[in-house]
Amino acid sequence: MRAIQYAAPTTVDDAVALLAEHGENARILAGGTDLIVQVREDGRDTELFVDAKGIPELTDLTVSADGTTTLGAATPCYELYGNDNFCAAYPAIVDAARIIGSTGIQGRASVGGNLCNAGPAGDSIPALIVHSAICNVAGPNGRREIAVEDFCTAPGRNSLEAGEMLVSLTLPSPPPNSGTHYLRFIPRNEMDIAVVGAGAFLQLDGDSITAARIALGAVAPTPLFVQAAGEALIGQTAGEAAFAAAAEIARDTASPIDDMRGTVAHRKQLSYVLTQRALRGALAHAQGGTPSNGH
Ligand SMILES: Cc1cc2nc3c(=O)[nH]c(=O)nc-3n(C[C@H](O)[C@H](O)[C@H](O)COP(=O)(O)OP(=O)(O)OC[C@H]3O[C@@H](n4cnc5c(N)ncnc54)[C@H](O)[C@@H]3O)c2cc1C
Repeated sequence: MRAIQYAAPTTVDDAVALLAEHGENARILAGGTDLIVQVREDGRDTELFVDAKGIPELTDLTVSADGTTTLGAATPCYELYGNDNFCAAYPAIVDAARIIGSTGIQGRASVGGNLCNAGPAGDSIPALIVHSAICNVAGPNGRREIAVEDFCTAPGRNSLEAGEMLVSLTLPSPPPNSGTHYLRFIPRNEMDIAVVGAGAFLQLDGDSITAARIALGAVAPTPLFVQAAGEALIGQTAGEAAFAAAAEIARDTASPIDDMRGTVAHRKQLSYVLTQRALRGALAHAQGGTPSNGH
């Protein structure tokens, strides 16, 4: 057993100073539901946990006058589905927050931690992509923004540079007549990692689709923004024919691996099926209803 130091800064500047002082041996601790397991298992030379939960900016959930929401990176999942306004505005993120682990895990686990962990199957990441989230990052050279679809770079790796941390996510105000949905396939009812996950965003003018975004999880080294599938939907009538055509693009874009959870063929087929279900769910939200299909 070895001792790991613990620091609880109350400002982003203090946290960044600690990261600068300790280099790669300092790790940001949000909920700890990935980090504690990893540090136990891989024996990395972690010498300091920098607790993010004492920094107000990292646990804020603020809606500004223009409807844009700022979601602190360390805000636990349960606070999202416990917030009616957030549920109405960002249903796909709420879909993901409700299925990460269990109720106990959701009491600690954050969307920011899920994103920074950069797992290919991280449930919140396709949901953040379809909501066009922007990552607000702080580091030794000040602050910068990264589009969420560019944040993950490889399994377990992200585009944060040395000494940088994720502060928050900016979520654009949902446009009128729009909706989103995220769902995944797992072989059990709960507490498993997605074999495939799919998220969709749709905006409508009557029956016609004016904007769309689709993202997949667990079918590539990083969560995948399937831009071409969304673009193919624009101008189409919202319904089964258009959804099937977009799902074909999603299936053909997916480049999964065979592993103990599923084969390449299974994951390709799931990409096709789940993309259509995510689109049906997004359509139901856009039309003011609730998706009938589960996770
Ligand atoms: C039993 C169990 C079930 C799980 N089920 C699921 C599941 O169904 N779906 C799923 O996607 N995941 C699942 N997970 C994984 C985990 O719970 C999620 O990834 C969770 O969202 C991580 O959030 P956290 O706040 O606990 O992150 P932490 O563990 O605190 O951090 C994760 C990583 O991100 C870094 N980090 C955290 N915050 C920041 C920041 N602000 N800036 C820079 N780096 C940061 C940490 O240093 C660490 O490397 C499960 C885990 C367990 C233990």
